[in-house]
Amino acid sequence: MSFRCVLCSNELELCATDVPTRAGPLMRWRCPNVNCVAHKPDFYAQQQQAADDYPDNNPKTVHGLAKAPLHLVPTRILYWLAEAFGNGAKKYGPFNWREKKISASIYYAAAMRHLTAWYEREDLAEDSGVHHLAHAAACLAMIADTEGTELFNDDRPPKRPTRSV
Ligand SMILES: [Zn+2]
Repeated sequence: MSFRCVLCSNELELCATDVPTRAGPLMRWRCPNVNCVAHKPDFYAQQQQAADDYPDNNPKTVHGLAKAPLHLVPTRILYWLAEAFGNGAKKYGPFNWREKKISASIYYAAAMRHLTAWYEREDLAEDSGVHHLAHAAACLAMIADTEGTELFNDDRPPKRPTRSV
C-alpha cells in the first residue's frame, strides 16, 4: 500500500513499523522530500494523534489537520483585500502583477507608506477610499504571490554583515 504526502504529493515511505494505540495503528510515514514539513519522521504520527484527539471519527480529519489551518484566519482581511484588489484592478488591470515583474523595493515602500499613514491615524487612503491596512496587505499578498518566481525582482539590499568583534 502506498500513500502520497498531503502537503507535497510525494510518495510516502514507511519509516517505522506501525505502533498500535487505543484508537488504532499509529502510521509512521515519512515524506522523502527534504524540503517538505512532513519530512520529519514523526509528522504523520503526530497528525494521526491529533486526529485521534479530535472530537469526530472521520478519516478525512487526519488529512485536514495536516493542511493549512485556514479556519484560523480572521475573515475581515479577505473583505479588505477584495476592496484593495478591486481598486487595483480598475487602475492597473486584474492580476497585473502576474503579467509584468514586480520589484521588492516598490512594493515594500508602498506597503510602508500605507502603514505609516495608518499609524499617523489616517484610516482610509485619500485617493481610493480604501483602508490603508487593506492596501498594505494587498502589497504583501502580491509579494507572496510572486516571491521565488521569475515574476519577482528581488532588489532588496544585501544582507548586513555580522559584526566581527
Ligand atoms: Zn511532503
